[in-house]
Amino acid sequence: MKLSKKLVAITAAMQPGQIACDGFLGNDPRSLAAIMAADQAAVNRIGLSHRQIARRMIEFRDAGQKACGDWITIPPRWEVRVDSARGKLLCPFGDPGLYPKTSITVRDIQNGTEITFTDLHIHLIGRHGFYEGSGCAFRVEPARLAEVLDIN
Ligand SMILES: [Zn+2]
Repeated sequence: MKLSKKLVAITAAMQPGQIACDGFLGNDPRSLAAIMAADQAAVNRIGLSHRQIARRMIEFRDAGQKACGDWITIPPRWEVRVDSARGKLLCPFGDPGLYPKTSITVRDIQNGTEITFTDLHIHLIGRHGFYEGSGCAFRVEPARLAEVLDIN
């Protein structure tokens, strides 16, 4: 099957140095469509939707933002820290708007696992079902998000 022109343009925008220094695809040899289909299947397997996952990420971000860069405890078992970095990123799918380079770290106090994501991740997941390519430093696995953030 031939890739649509749009997918080609999006894939180009995801290369290193375009929107983000490291790009969005890591060293993943798969096409964007294949990456997204695999993550759709992974999300289906755990019985969730991208929107549900994004909603939960927003809850943690909003709770964490109140601490202005410090760790804040979120009962019953998390702590969250939101760090703002200078600069904003575009959505590689071509949506209008800029996403702040905020990094949100959620740590499960009980078992020490943690996960870090950004505002752009929340958008990419909730709107596009895109979790980035494998080998990408910023890839977030759907199953890991579900586990650490206790989404069900
Ligand atoms: Zn977008």
